[in-house]
Amino acid sequence: MSTKSSVFVLIGPPGSGKGSVSGLCIKEFGWKQLSTGNLCRKHIAQQTEIGKQIDFVLKSGKLVSDDIIVNMVNQWLAEQLDLGETVILDGYPRNVAQAEALQRFLGQKAYKSAPFHVIEFAIPDSVVVDRLCRRAICENRDCQTVYSLIEGSRLRPKKEMVCDECSSSLDVRPDDTPQAVKERLKVYHEHAQALLSFYRERGLKVLEVDASKPLNDVFDSFKKKAGVQDL
Ligand code: AMP
Repeated sequence: MSTKSSVFVLIGPPGSGKGSVSGLCIKEFGWKQLSTGNLCRKHIAQQTEIGKQIDFVLKSGKLVSDDIIVNMVNQWLAEQLDLGETVILDGYPRNVAQAEALQRFLGQKAYKSAPFHVIEFAIPDSVVVDRLCRRAICENRDCQTVYSLIEGSRLRPKKEMVCDECSSSLDVRPDDTPQAVKERLKVYHEHAQALLSFYRERGLKVLEVDASKPLNDVFDSFKKKAGVQDL
C-alpha cells in the first residue's frame, strides 16, 4: 500500500447524496468508490448465486447479511489499497458489526497507516423521501449516474429519461417506492446512532455535512471539512 491511500467512510440515509459526492471525488481527484448497493445490484443483474440470494432483500429495503457484504468489501479494499488508491466507502459500514469488521481489516499491518475519515451526511427524512420518490438512475451498470426528476433541479437530465453522460436510458430503482423508502429509512435509523457512537467512542472525529443543501455546496463542505485540498 502506498502512503497516499486514505479511506473515507460516508454515513447517511439513502438519498443523502453520498453517491453523488463520491462521483465528484472520482472526477476531481481520481479516487475509487465502492457503493455496496451498486455492487449488490450488479450481482442481481448478472444473476450470480449471491444475486439470487439477495434480490428479495434489496426489494424489501432490508439489509443483506453481514457475511456477504464484508467479504465483498474486503476483497475490493485489498485490491485498491494495494494499488495505493484513496477509497470512498459509500453505504458501508451500515451497522456496528460491519464497522468492527472494517476496523479488523484496516488493523492489518499492511493497511494500518491509511488515514481514516468518517463523514456524516445529515438530512431530514422528509427531504430524503421527496428526493428518492423522484430519482432516476442510469441503467448502464458502469455509469449509474443519479438524476433528479424534480422540476428545476440542477440534477435533472438534459433529455427526458436519457443519461447525459452515456446516453443510456434512465431507470427508477425498484426500492425507490414509498414503502421500501420508508423501510430503508427505518433500517438506517435503527443503526446510525450506534454506528456513529462506535467511531466517536474510539476517539475519531465524525465530520458532519449538511446534506440537504444543493450538491455543489455539499461537495464544498465535504472538501473543507475533510481537508481534502491538503491531501
Ligand atoms: P443503497 O444503494 O446504498 O441504498 O443500498 C441498496 C440496498 O443494498 C440496501 O437497502 C441493502 O439491501 C443493500 N445494502 C447496501 N449496502 C449494504 C450494507 N453495507 N449492508 C447490508 N446491506 C446493504
